[in-house]
Amino acid sequence: MLARHPRIGVHRFLSSTISSSSPKCIIPSTAFHRGSFNTTPALKMSTQPAHPALLIPGPIEFDDAVLQSMSHFSESHVGPGFVAVFGETLSLLRQLFQTTDSAAQPFVISGSGTLGWDLVAANLVEAGEDVLVLQSGYFSDGFADCLTTYGANVTKVTSAPGSRPQLDEIEKALSAKQYKLLTVTHVDTSTGVLSELKKLSELVHKVSPETLIIVDGVCSVACEEIAFDEWKLDGVVTASQKAIGCPAGLSISMFSGKAMERFQNRKTPPASYFASMKNWTPKAFLLRHALPQLVRALHTALNQILTKPIADRFAAHRQASDKIKQAVTALGLQQVAGNPDDQAHGMTAMYLPDSVKSTDLLPILGKKGVVFAGGIHKEIATKYIRFGHMAGPSRTDIEKALTALKEGLAELGYSKP
Ligand SMILES: *Cc1c(COP(=O)(O)O)cnc(C)c1O
Repeated sequence: MLARHPRIGVHRFLSSTISSSSPKCIIPSTAFHRGSFNTTPALKMSTQPAHPALLIPGPIEFDDAVLQSMSHFSESHVGPGFVAVFGETLSLLRQLFQTTDSAAQPFVISGSGTLGWDLVAANLVEAGEDVLVLQSGYFSDGFADCLTTYGANVTKVTSAPGSRPQLDEIEKALSAKQYKLLTVTHVDTSTGVLSELKKLSELVHKVSPETLIIVDGVCSVACEEIAFDEWKLDGVVTASQKAIGCPAGLSISMFSGKAMERFQNRKTPPASYFASMKNWTPKAFLLRHALPQLVRALHTALNQILTKPIADRFAAHRQASDKIKQAVTALGLQQVAGNPDDQAHGMTAMYLPDSVKSTDLLPILGKKGVVFAGGIHKEIATKYIRFGHMAGPSRTDIEKALTALKEGLAELGYSKP
């Protein structure tokens, strides 16, 4: 049952152009018992019915206060209350992406993470233009397919499952052709491979400065560091339901002034109506249906995330991830992301022993109250499982998951070599 939520966030209007200010938002005092990396079990009982711990790489478990924000009464999407919350939400997003550049443009659009791909493909590339896709798994391939759908001419730098394209290969590709943009999957959710963005951006700026750098951050925004301005990124697309911890339904993105200029200077109109940036710019978005209840939930989730310095949040993810990865290694399991530097901090993809099938193990884990995800990388799909730990599941959930994993493997006859 969802209780009525105190009306938060209607107190101050912050326009989307106020970039670096700290909004003084009012946050319910009950907002922090989950997702705040407590090392002790939650003190407050959740109002949600008892359910298995959802530990897949998105959607993640949602905080009570975030869910309660969605039970707001119906309101006009152009009325002052919602407009104020939307403005604050965009300012909070600038903080999350670490941008103070007033030319950078955030977008919050009803849709899933995939819509971010369409936003890039429909607005920042024209048919026949060259795009370089750094392929690190299933989701990079999806982004490439989307770009192709809009007529882009896609070249991929490929890599074996569990790895990612290396800088020397990328440099070679960039030197061979003038690419309009490059896409990189920050964390490929199919493999748990983390791509390095800072050095990649330095390379692109050195070798091909006109190429826009576009990041699929659906599985990384709010759990891996992203310094949008400092790293000179041109676009980061994400979704509400992964590390941000807001129910699915919002495509969330940030584009640089340079990317927006690219859009303004198109020769042909965008090949999509719904995903055309022109329909979602600050003046226009107020005329569109923008899912008020979901935006209120996003506003609450962002306020929770930004209560503490964002660097602390990334450090907490690294710490929790290190512990989980140590425990997985102690069980004698290998990670899909072979190189420790390439391992994501919000999820862990692990190979199963040869004798254990994921289709046998996952239901056993489910009975023990833990929901993990199976593999989706087509070359290795049946051989591994995925444990999502974005936004800091409680210490008790992590312990429960690791214990269930150990017991489940034992029940299927596995013992550590
Ligand atoms: C989940 C995910 C997507 C797709 O997002 P949806 O909300 O499921 O459409 C895209 N890229 C990555 C890296 C993801 O993890």
